[in-house]
Amino acid sequence: MSETRTGLGVDSHRLVAGRPLILGGVEFESELGLDGHSDADVLTHAVIDALLGAAALGDIGTHFPDSDERWRGADSIDLLSKVAGMLIGAGFELVNVDATVIIEQPKIGPQREAIVERISGALGVEASRVNVKATTAEQIGAFGRGEGAGAVAVATLRTS
Ligand code: MG
Repeated sequence: MSETRTGLGVDSHRLVAGRPLILGGVEFESELGLDGHSDADVLTHAVIDALLGAAALGDIGTHFPDSDERWRGADSIDLLSKVAGMLIGAGFELVNVDATVIIEQPKIGPQREAIVERISGALGVEASRVNVKATTAEQIGAFGRGEGAGAVAVATLRTS
């Protein structure tokens, strides 16, 4: 009998000068970019953790530790593809993923479809199984001051 499972992913990264801003595998024009060991794609990291959570396969740090030089500057979309392979290997298929980016600027909307294409492509699923949203923090707290960006994702899998 098919079983349905849900996972949650949450991530945040600092915004700093001299780094590219990459969200969902798409680079944005921005003076500030996300800081981290990999490309610091906060949205893709949250999606990865949601997927691993649903499959009870640990978290992103378990599989791609930031102490490992292999993952320095890693393209997070490549990591997502690896996770998609792990899910198939564990007998799961994706029902859907939904994610929200929290960032003060730039506006994500114009690139939303491109992000969905990148994420769904890495997962090998139709674009209709992936939804991406964005919100600002209304100038409240660290995200609101533009010190960083966050993302939250939920994913639902079913046993295939
Ligand atoms: Mg991260």
